[in-house]
This record gives sequence, C-alpha cells and structure tokens, in this order.
Amino acid sequence: MNEEAVRPSDFIRTIIAQDVENGKYGGRVHTRFPPEPNGYLHIGHAKSICLNFGIAREYDGLCNLRFDDTNPEKEDVEYIESIMEDVHWLGFDWEDRLYYASDYFQQLYDYARELIRRGKAYVCSLSTGQIREYRGTLTKPGKESPYRNRSVEENLKLFQRMKDGEFEEGAHVLRAKIDMTSPNITLRDPTIYRIKKMSHHRTGDTWCIYPMYDFTHCLSDSIEGITHSLCTIEFEINRPLYDWFLDELEVESHPQQIEFAPLNLSYTILSKRKLLQLGDEGHVSGWDDPRMPTISGFRRRGYTPEAIREFINRIGVAKRDSLVDVAMLEYCLREDLNRRAQRVMAVLHPVKVIIDNYPEGQVEQLDAVNNPEDDAMGTRAVPFSRELFIDRDDFMEDPPKKYFRLSPGKEVRLRYGYYITCTSIKKNPETGIVEEIHCTYDPETRGGTSPDRRKVKGTIHWVSAGQAVDAEVRLYDYLFSEPDPGAYPERDFREFLNPSSLEILQDCKVEPFVKGLHPGDRMQFERVGYFCLDSKDSTPERPVFNRTVTLRDTWAKIRKKG
Ligand code: ATP
Ligand code: MG
Repeated sequence: MNEEAVRPSDFIRTIIAQDVENGKYGGRVHTRFPPEPNGYLHIGHAKSICLNFGIAREYDGLCNLRFDDTNPEKEDVEYIESIMEDVHWLGFDWEDRLYYASDYFQQLYDYARELIRRGKAYVCSLSTGQIREYRGTLTKPGKESPYRNRSVEENLKLFQRMKDGEFEEGAHVLRAKIDMTSPNITLRDPTIYRIKKMSHHRTGDTWCIYPMYDFTHCLSDSIEGITHSLCTIEFEINRPLYDWFLDELEVESHPQQIEFAPLNLSYTILSKRKLLQLGDEGHVSGWDDPRMPTISGFRRRGYTPEAIREFINRIGVAKRDSLVDVAMLEYCLREDLNRRAQRVMAVLHPVKVIIDNYPEGQVEQLDAVNNPEDDAMGTRAVPFSRELFIDRDDFMEDPPKKYFRLSPGKEVRLRYGYYITCTSIKKNPETGIVEEIHCTYDPETRGGTSPDRRKVKGTIHWVSAGQAVDAEVRLYDYLFSEPDPGAYPERDFREFLNPSSLEILQDCKVEPFVKGLHPGDRMQFERVGYFCLDSKDSTPERPVFNRTVTLRDTWAKIRKKG
C-alpha cells in the first residue's frame, strides 16, 4: 500500500488545479466536511472526509469541520463527539477550525431580513399541506401563494414575530421569492425558515425559528471563506438555489459547489436513518456494532484507518453512481493487516490431543515468529506440553485422499512444534464425538524440521492445554445477504438482513501471549483469520475476540458454488 506515492487525480482535483492556476479565490483552497450530527459517521462519510481533508492537504489549503446543526429534533451531542473522534481516527485534523452552523444563526437571521428588504423573501401563511399542493410537480407548474406579495414592512414585522415566538409551529414560514414555474422544483419559492418550538443542543431556547439546509449551507460556506464546496450528487439539483442565495445577497465570497457520486457498497446500507433503525430495533447492538458500516463499527471490528484510506484512494471520485464491491475494502484491509499484524495461535473448535510419549508435567518454550512479513517484529515463546488443543477441522477419522491434516496413522507438523503421529482416538460412547486424539511425537523434529528430511504435508496450529487462555470469539458475516440491498426501494430493507451475520463461539483456546494485549489490538490467528480484542466486552478474565476479516475471500468462492 502506498498512499502518498500515488497522488489521486480525478475531475474535482482537475477543476481545483485549474482554479489554483488561474488564481481563482486568490489561489486558495479551502474545503469543509459538513456532517449533520444526527447519527454516527459511516464509510460513505469517510469518502467525503478523505476527499475534503485530502484535497486541502494536497494544495496547502485548509479544511474545516462544520456541524450542520439546524435540525434540533434529530441532533445530539453524543453524535458530535463521535464524529470528532472518527475524523481524528481516520487521520485528519481540523486544527482550530471547528464550526457549527448554529454559530451563524444571528448572521443567517440578518441575511434573511436582507432578502426580505430586497423583496426576495416573504412570510407565507399557507399550511404545510397547501404549500406542497401549490408547489406543483415535475410536469405541472406551481401556483403562487396568496401571501407572495405582502409588503416588505409586513414581512419584516411577521418574521420578527415568528422569531419572538408569537406563532404556533406551522402557522407561518419564510420563503424565498424565486419562480413558481421553474422546471427545477427546488426553485419554486423554497422555505428558508420554519417555526420549531424546540431547544437546541447549543443555542438552547434562544431561537424558535430554524433555517433550512439550502439557505444555511451556502451561507455557512461563504461566511467561512470556503472555496470549493464538495457534496454528493443528489445536491446537483440544489446548486442553482445555492448560487441564487449567494447572488441575491451579494456576499463577498461565493464558493463553488461541485458534486460527486456517493459511495455505495455491496452487502451494505449507508443511510443514517436506516442504521439508527437497525440499532433501535435490536438487529445490531448499536452504532458501533462490529457489523455496522459505521466508522466506529469498523474500528471496533479491527479495521485500520490506513486500510480505509487506501480503499477510498482506490475507488476514486467520479460523477457517475456505482456500487463498489465490499471485497475491495476487505482486500485493502488484508493487505494492511498482513504486513502489520502479530501472529498468534488460536483454536476455535478445540479437541484434545494427548502426546503419550511426551513427559508428563513437562512444559517447554518453543520459538514462534511474530510476523513472517516483518523480521523486526521478532519471535515469542509458545509453551508446549503433553496435552494440546487442535481444531476439530484438522482431524478426520476417515479422510478423503488428499486430506493432509491429522488422521489415524498419519503424521503432521505442529506449527513451530514437533511432528506428531496419530495412534488412536477416544470417542464419547453415546454421541460418537471424538474426545481425545492420542499421538506420539518425534523428539528429533523440534521447531518443525526433521533431520532425515522426511516429507510431512500438513502443518496445523495448536495451543498447549495447560496454558491456554479461554476466550469468546465472535465471527461476523455481512449484515445483509443481498448484494445490493438499496436497489429495491419498494421493499423493506430489513427483509435482506442476514440471519447468520454473527456466530459466537464460547469455548475457544488461545495461546497465553494474548494476556498481554490491550483492547483494540489486532492480530492474525494463524490459518484462521484476522481478529482484534473487543474494546467493549473483553475483560482480562474473559477475552473476547472479533473476527475482523477472514484470511482469504472464501465468501466469493461460496457464492460461485451456490
Ligand atoms: P446519510 O445519507 O447517511 O443520512 P447524509 O448525507 O444525510 O448521510 P450528512 O451528515 O449530511 O449525512 O453528510 C455529511 C457529508 O458527507 C455530506 O457532504 C455528504 O454529501 C457526505 N456523504 C454522505 N453520504 C455519503 C456517501 N455515501 N458517499 C460520499 N459522501 C457522503
Ligand atoms: Mg445530508
């Protein structure tokens, strides 16, 4: 992976490079990331974060973090805090440029009064339903409101009284006076202020009228001296309105809105509303459930910020909508973890192996490589003794021809250990399940090589029983079993939930090395997958491991077979 070496290039960067060259905005580049604090950030937001902060960095510019907090009923400080944590975790910093649209409420109110004075806004007293009805449709022009031609004085007075709390919610709104026949519906006298008798998490009860997104966003950008306002493609239709407010108000700085395609990921839903619903209804444990496509979910799952940034780099930025295969994200993750992750041996479905010719009570320490990709990570000692655990999958009583793991009479190599040969097995007389696998070991094969160089095809992992740490392991699969769960607007997205997205294994055995790990630490369980110590539920007495990702894309293989 080579984030810095390959400098991204795309249509937005091309526009910005030209603007810089032409001295537009004095050659400055100033972007912003403007989340609404009504939920946790998801991987789609990571695309916007990498784009905005990335471009600022590349052009020696600045990027602000601005909370677009104009909707008090859905917003919460918990979301503000999580968003700041996530942006930092992704590796970006707004320095001293943390802003809130609510900081501009007075300025925005003054701008609204200015629009009224210029005859470009009016107080409309139609009901919400009537406003919708008067708006018309794509094929039918809108109808002018009977309140459209109120005098400036009357409008100013009514707007003041709206602000003073004299009216009930819905009694009046302030609307821009643009064009009820415009083919672009967003220009049909859009609402710019509505009454909401609601406390705001920052401004308290100072305001009972709140500005709408379109009005707030362009003016906030302008107030902050933003040069390029990057947003997702659904706002393309709002761009004329963005420009209209800035033109009518003759502001000093007129940023340029540029739209790009949002990230869509297979087997994933990216909508804060739906993600909130998944938590509220108990389909997941919350915003940071390791199956969630939120930044906090990925973090808890064991993803690295480097892998997410590399993924965003690779998918690039375009105007056209597309569905990105989640396998690409997993590929970036495996590449990163393979280079960096500590190797550990863990047995998820344990069965006992007894080495009959190994001295009882003896424990020896064997050398194991911490990361074959990185010699600097060194080695560690792994205890070996007469009783071990291996995975049930690594033993077969009646193996097919090409089975190279353990079976009666066969010899295998224990990773970093000895060669062992299965001599007999003991089954539970009632269930027939194998309970003990008896073996002998060859003392000449310490470390996994034999002096006579005899061939042993299979190498399996193991954990010494006496020193094993008991652990819980959580195996995750995709939250949705449908590749494109967003493609069926007429169906309920919950129909596509994968019923087996979480499998919990209670009886896993891990080598004692993991006692020294900290919550969030990542590792590879050799031959099994990448895991991390859960940051919420893990305790020193009872470690809990999340499977971050499998070693190979077994999912793709299964899909082909099925
Ligand atoms: P959601 O659709 O999940 O509710 P949103 O667009 O309402 O998200 P905002 O808080 O308004 O959430 O988003 C902040 C910024 O992130 C916006 O500039 C938005 O365009 C961008 N963004 C949101 N979703 C995506 C996505 N899937 N891909 C890229 N950028 C996105
Ligand atoms: Mg939005």
